Amino acid sequence: MKPCSFHKNKGQLDRAMAGIAALIVAAGRGERAQSPDREGVLLPKQYWKLGGKPVLRWAAEAFLASSRVSHVLAVIRTEDRSTYEAAVAGLGVLPPVVGGATRQESVRNGLEALANRKPEHVLIHDAARPLVSPAVIGRVIDALDSAEAVAPMLEIPDTLRRKSGDAFSLVPREGLLRAQTPQGFRFASILDAHRRFAAESVTDDFALAERAGLSLATVTGEAMNLKLTTVEDFALAERLATPALPDFRTGTGFDVHRFAKGDHVWLCGVKISHEFGLEGHSDADAGLHALTDALLGALGDGDIGMHFPPTDERWRGAPSHLFLAHAAALVRQRGGAIAHVDVTLICERPKVAPHREAMRGRIAEILCIEATRVSVKATTTEGLGFTGRREGIAAQAVATIRLP
Ligand code: MG
Repeated sequence: MKPCSFHKNKGQLDRAMAGIAALIVAAGRGERAQSPDREGVLLPKQYWKLGGKPVLRWAAEAFLASSRVSHVLAVIRTEDRSTYEAAVAGLGVLPPVVGGATRQESVRNGLEALANRKPEHVLIHDAARPLVSPAVIGRVIDALDSAEAVAPMLEIPDTLRRKSGDAFSLVPREGLLRAQTPQGFRFASILDAHRRFAAESVTDDFALAERAGLSLATVTGEAMNLKLTTVEDFALAERLATPALPDFRTGTGFDVHRFAKGDHVWLCGVKISHEFGLEGHSDADAGLHALTDALLGALGDGDIGMHFPPTDERWRGAPSHLFLAHAAALVRQRGGAIAHVDVTLICERPKVAPHREAMRGRIAEILCIEATRVSVKATTTEGLGFTGRREGIAAQAVATIRLP
């Protein structure tokens, strides 16, 4: 599967001069469990999908979106490398560094890898906090003007009790804070602290900074910036990550292409050997054309011929996934999401059934949505009409999108 690469970060231009590196720690052993979207393999939670994207990608995108962050580097486990590469595909992150036996060792490896770039500051962040906001990142960076170590903290609203046998004694909440990430540091100071205290085990980098006598500051954290630990956390994060898109729109599309000389056809993005080809300005993929029109219809944004005129030489022989990807990008530009698409291919031949799953997968890949949101069906016209006479192929499609 090709990665979904629709995210573009805005900060790339300013970044060369910023001098703040972000280090994402994703080397945790954690438990490997079946992800909720049941995509087969047992994955560490930092690679589970949240709102359709791997958890780690959320954090990477958050830092890349800040024009003040110059580099983003992740520390990963060796065996996760291919999963990691897929998770950050298309993002401008540095090649990953392999972590150590403990979180502390992993952070140190990451800092050592950044040392030759001499950033002024570093933000150290747990990959399991995907919903870190620009506001928290900004507060940590601002506070680094006057302190060597900064952590976002939150007060604890719940009553705390300590269980001891049958007794539950009250623990005063006053002065108790819970620490989040990203924690920000003067780079040279925290690298030095990690080197000096490598033999001492601490819970986080802020604690290490304190041990090393650095000047400390806190900023207000965010409840949204939760650390995904349990499946329940995941369910909560999924709700937070999925924006409210109450405005449902539906569009339809229809397309026909005539059989011509050839030995294959393209249908729904899949190349199928056939005794004829299909005639058209592009690759004549009637399925993808109908689907592109359905998406444009749902947006109320014209039709495929308007966006890709057949008089334009650029589209001669063009692969139709370009058209479909363009329509999907228009949905995203409007802040929307594709809820479901359904394509019906109408022909006597070629047989569609053997290719149906490949077609669903390919459409899902082009649209960057789950295959469960894609339907491909086929029918004949019982020998009637032009499809019955095998003169051509027709396709119709329905697309449902959600807009803000
Ligand atoms: Mg067409």
